This record gives sequence, C-alpha cells and structure tokens, in this order.
Amino acid sequence: MTSDLPVVLTIAGFDPSGGAGVVADVRTIVQFGCRPAAAITSLTFQNADGFFGASHETAESLRAQIVPVIEESPPAAVKVGMLPTAELILEVADLIRNKRLPAPVLDPVLKSSSGGELMEPEAIPVLTRELLALARLVTPNVPEAEALTGLSIENEDDMRRAAGKLCEIGARAVLIKGGHLGERADVRHQKSAPRSSTDLLTEDGEVTVFTGEWIEAPPIRGSGCMMSSAIAACLAQGVTMKDAVQRAKEHIAGAIREQLSHIITQI
Ligand code: PLP
Repeated sequence: MTSDLPVVLTIAGFDPSGGAGVVADVRTIVQFGCRPAAAITSLTFQNADGFFGASHETAESLRAQIVPVIEESPPAAVKVGMLPTAELILEVADLIRNKRLPAPVLDPVLKSSSGGELMEPEAIPVLTRELLALARLVTPNVPEAEALTGLSIENEDDMRRAAGKLCEIGARAVLIKGGHLGERADVRHQKSAPRSSTDLLTEDGEVTVFTGEWIEAPPIRGSGCMMSSAIAACLAQGVTMKDAVQRAKEHIAGAIREQLSHIITQI
C-alpha cells in the first residue's frame, strides 16, 4: 500500500494496551495526515494497573525491521521512543550515520507511567553520548531531563539551564515538557498558585516558552509518545519547529479534554 502522504517512521516499544508506544504513535501520525511505518524495539507486558516485564529486540532484529522499510519508502521524518538497551541505541545511531535514516525526534523515555523501567540505567550515558547529537529534536519531560543532565529542575530557569546543558552535550534542539513541574508544586502545597502547562524549546540558541492552560485531569498514558509523533508528522510536512510544537501541544490538550469528558460521562 502506498500513497502520496509523507511517511513517518516510529521506532518505539509496543504497549499491548494501546495507550502508549507504537500504537499511540501510529494513531497520532494518521491523525496528523501522514502515513505511518513502525519498528518495534521491545515487546512490553503491561496495562493501566502495572508493568509486568518486557522482551527487547536485538540490534539485528531492529535493523531487519527498519532497513527494508526505509529502502522502499524513505521516511520524511522519524520518531524514536523506547530504546531499552545500549545495543539498540548504538544500532539506531549507526542507521542514522550509515543508512541515511533521517535525524529523529528523540523521546528519551526512561519509565512508564505504570511503573516499568523502559531503559536500563547503564544505557542512559550511551544515549547522551551516542544519539543526542544525531537527533533533530530531543523531547525529555522533567524527570528525564534531570536524568540526562544530572541537574535538578524545580522551575522555568532550571528548565533553561537543563536545555542549555543538553545543547552543550550536542543536541541541535531540545523541548523540555514541564507538565511534571505542576505536580511538584502541588507536592510543595502551592495549590493556590495558578498552574499552567509550560514547555520550553531551545533551538539555535533561541528559547521559546509555550504556556498552555492546565487541565485538571488524571495523567494521560502515552502523552509523551503522542507529542513526539505529532511533532515528527508536522516536520514531515514542512512545518517549522515552533509551529510543530504548538500544534502538538494543542493536540495533547484536546486528547486530555476528550479523556476527561469520557470520565465525566462514566460518573
Ligand atoms: N513507550 C512505551 C512502550 C511505553 O509503554 C510507555 C509508557 O508506558 C512510553 C513509551 C512512555 O509513555 P508516555 O508517553 O506516557 O511517557
């Protein structure tokens, strides 16, 4: 099956519940008007209640999924999600360097909301050393940005510092998603302060802050997956990085509102 739509390839984990990973990516890529292709890095065993383990692909099996697809239908953009092992990180780096895999939107997922470890701790420095500089954009949330930089992030200034450090390490562009900061403010009993959903983009030394309305709702599984896939789909269509982030952010807000309306109808 071919079409004129730009192809967006997602390289990510499989969550059988469909909430996160490649299923969320494919859904988002279609919603943004592109043709999805997908390669799986790990088969995870989980549902909303828990994480029960994972069976990771090898470098060979990941390459065997990707190479025929990119040779037949070169992707206009790539999103990379769960990369559980150093072996898989090095394989993706090699595909970018030697197989002309486009520079990806890299979502450095470390943990699932269901509590599972999605990247082995010893693979984290391999990701920063080998893959960060090859990405078009890196999209950590606050805990992920802390793990990658070793900095603690409590506010917007800290987000700037962490984004700056990731650029020093070699990232071309960084989007730090600040959603977790709101939760931390609550933990510090600052519930009276108006909450917002602030994300910070650094590209070519320019910082852009995106402030969205905070929607009081349970955390939505796969929102990071959707964000990075939506940005990749926009970039595939020639949208600028800033507009891509804005459109992706609006898409996530829509998904959260929709989830909330389902919860309210069930009550
Ligand atoms: N990738 C996989 C396979 C996952 O299972 C998860 C979370 O469960 C994620 C990525 C990260 O999900 P989120 O978008 O909620 O950060």
